[in-house]
Amino acid sequence: MKITIIGAGYVGLVSSVCFSDFGHDVVCVEKSPERLAKLQAGEVPIYEPGLDELMARNVEAERLSFTGDLAEGIKDAAAIFIAVGTPTRRGGGHADLSYVMAAAKEIATALDHYAVVVTKSTVPVGTNAQVKEVITITNPRAEFDVASNPEFLREGAAIDDFMRPDRIVVGVENERAAEVMQAIYRPLYLRDFPIMTTDLESAEMIKYAANAFLATKITFINEIAALCERTGADVKAVSKGMGADGRIGTKFLHAGPGYGGSCFPKDTKALARMGQDHSIPMQLTETVIKVNEEVKRRMVDKVFDLCGGSANGKTIAVLGVTFKPNTDDMRDAPSLTIVPALVGNGAEVRVVDPQGQHEGAALLPGVTWCDDAYAAAEGADAVILLTEWNEFRALDLARLSYVMRTPAMADLRNIYSAEAAEKAGFTAYTSVGRRNL
Ligand code: NAD
Repeated sequence: MKITIIGAGYVGLVSSVCFSDFGHDVVCVEKSPERLAKLQAGEVPIYEPGLDELMARNVEAERLSFTGDLAEGIKDAAAIFIAVGTPTRRGGGHADLSYVMAAAKEIATALDHYAVVVTKSTVPVGTNAQVKEVITITNPRAEFDVASNPEFLREGAAIDDFMRPDRIVVGVENERAAEVMQAIYRPLYLRDFPIMTTDLESAEMIKYAANAFLATKITFINEIAALCERTGADVKAVSKGMGADGRIGTKFLHAGPGYGGSCFPKDTKALARMGQDHSIPMQLTETVIKVNEEVKRRMVDKVFDLCGGSANGKTIAVLGVTFKPNTDDMRDAPSLTIVPALVGNGAEVRVVDPQGQHEGAALLPGVTWCDDAYAAAEGADAVILLTEWNEFRALDLARLSYVMRTPAMADLRNIYSAEAAEKAGFTAYTSVGRRNL
């Protein structure tokens, strides 16, 4: 089948590569000239484990190509996927649909055969109906159906998530579109990954409800963690005890510095906005958004406390700034709240991140980038473990404490323990929802 994907970001590029690996003939349309030039030169413009190899294999097999020309890209395509960004619109929290609608108009202008126009971007309920209207108004002769196919992949594990999804959600209005979508996903369906077919609106809502629920789960345990700190309970034991209940589950119950990333912050805001627009306030989600901001601020206070009340004049090493490990994505990362607060307070901040510098350099002005944790910690007054990259999970704590001026650690991912830190020579250790040193 010939498939076109509009947008070569984390979702568009991973989808393009994986669909071509299924055996489909995929053209990926990217409008950023820099990004397109890289792709056409065989370079992967984002960091996603395994993507470079899989992309090279499918380009080599001539199943995958990249273009900046949308009209050329959608020629003969049975399905055209819109996978462009839907960031938060300035003021009010709405999802910014301008990229989606611009893509819809471009598709409409160039479409000269029947195709299913599939929205893979995360969009508020009613957007697919709007896409249909925009295409019809732009080109009344266009022959098409719309479909909603929200994406659930996680950055850092995107290929595996795409190839082994818990479910595939497809919202359609008729059988013709459903058949095209089933044909596209047949390779997964044959391997027993379920395809759920719904109406357009339910498919759109599933994505927001799922993300808001996960953000709620994280925020719930973060709030419990704060109470653990006051009462002497250990949040790791609490998570384990809670998660053992099959109705709850262990995932997304790890206390930390607050959720961030390219999806949860913007999707919770968009859901809250949707609720307000329909006069059904999403009170839980609104509270989650507020509490998450407090969680991030609490982390700043934690570091100040560790430094004796203020970070002014202190040297602080920050380990990890991407919003999670195995990605270079910095969008809404907790580091963007915590690091500027330290710099603003007069700290000298040194940062180390295996993939974050390219994106992070402009976002974190006034910091010094280092190559490894020990170099960053040399002569420092505190080290903050902010993103749990594998290389920060197995640090030689004794070596780390030895090179520091004041061996103090804020372990905001609960990787180590007060006992281990003390044994390694740390004189102060703080984490989230557990005993301090
Ligand atoms: P992104 O910003 O990484 O990528 C979007 C790409 O689309 C950019 O390269 C941009 O240049 C390109 N683009 C925009 N308009 C275009 C046009 N008219 N023609 C061609 N290219 C165009 O975004 P992303 O992180 O991949 O997210 C895309 C959508 O998927 C969002 O709605 C997001 O909420 C959703 N989503 C993201 C993730 C994730 O983990 N990143 C997971 C699930 C769903």
